[in-house]
Amino acid sequence: MAYTVPKLTDYSAAALDRAAADSHHACQSEAAAVRNDADLKSFRDRWMARKNGILTQINDLWLKGAPPEAKREAGIQVNRLKARITELVEGAHVSPTGALDSEAVDISLPGIRRPIGAEHPVIKTMHEIVGVFEKLGYSVAEGPVVETDYYNFEALNFPPNHPARDTQDTLFIAGQKAKPQRDRLLLRTHTSPVQIRTMEKLRPPIRIVIPGKVHRNDPPDASHSPMFHQIEGLAVDTNITFGDLKGTLDHAMKALFGSSVKTHFRPSFFPFTEPSAELYVTCFICGGSGKRGTDNAPCRPCKQTGWIEVLGCGMVDPNVFEFVKDNGYDPKKVSGFAFGMGVDRLALLKYGVDDIQLFFQGDVRFLEQFG
Ligand SMILES: [Zn+2]
Repeated sequence: MAYTVPKLTDYSAAALDRAAADSHHACQSEAAAVRNDADLKSFRDRWMARKNGILTQINDLWLKGAPPEAKREAGIQVNRLKARITELVEGAHVSPTGALDSEAVDISLPGIRRPIGAEHPVIKTMHEIVGVFEKLGYSVAEGPVVETDYYNFEALNFPPNHPARDTQDTLFIAGQKAKPQRDRLLLRTHTSPVQIRTMEKLRPPIRIVIPGKVHRNDPPDASHSPMFHQIEGLAVDTNITFGDLKGTLDHAMKALFGSSVKTHFRPSFFPFTEPSAELYVTCFICGGSGKRGTDNAPCRPCKQTGWIEVLGCGMVDPNVFEFVKDNGYDPKKVSGFAFGMGVDRLALLKYGVDDIQLFFQGDVRFLEQFG
């Protein structure tokens, strides 16, 4: 029911207080109910009109009707109420919600900015690399992080006493001693086991990239972490040659680091490829000169050589195919190449970060630079 100004019979301070509070509350509710410009105008008129507005009525009914001894107190109350109501009426505005005005959303205020997440620089780099190979027709394969000795070492042609099987490099799961060596569990030291797992499932030809987490028994420092990320690639078909390997990786490096980079292969050794090579690209920081800036400062990322090692690669060793021969991988009929790169190291180089630990400490101040 709409508020009407009551006649006062009781002029005690408590009664005046109560009457003023009722009036103020009524004004507040009406202000909150203003939904459009017409509401706003009639609300203002109802309370403020000089002729018969509510304030005028209060003045007439409460002040003029007050007994002489209560006049002073009533005057103070009425003046205070007038000030508060004037403030309410002047502050009233069109509110589209049904909430009380004090709770209503003021759509003219600036919004609350909620920070949206961004890709972690390592994941971003990983997606970029995977994206380059997806465009070449490669699909993505994944496998378990906790792996057996068989898939991590044996089927990849690591001899039984290869140093990589030593606890110096590999984190073994405890309590596995009772099992035969090939069944013992460990944290995979590379993403290469997924090559075997995929070849067991799919017959040739295959073209896959394998992104994932790997672990090694390395104490953390600026360039080592016990957990890091790799991307591995594998292509198997008839008549795949080292020329295919070179052409594919040269294309991928240009797609990743810019069309002006040059690639360079140096002989290397990996148990599961033969021949094996390390791939170097011209330093994308100094452009291959080994010097930076106008003062010819030494380029640290390439150690002034002008070349940066980015990955290991090679032709799949026929011994590896022997493990999956029954699924169509007869080494006399198929050939293939494989490559693997450390994503974290490439992210370090790409973003000019000098400590790999920064990637894994979860410090938002560091990470938001890449958002
Ligand atoms: Zn350089």
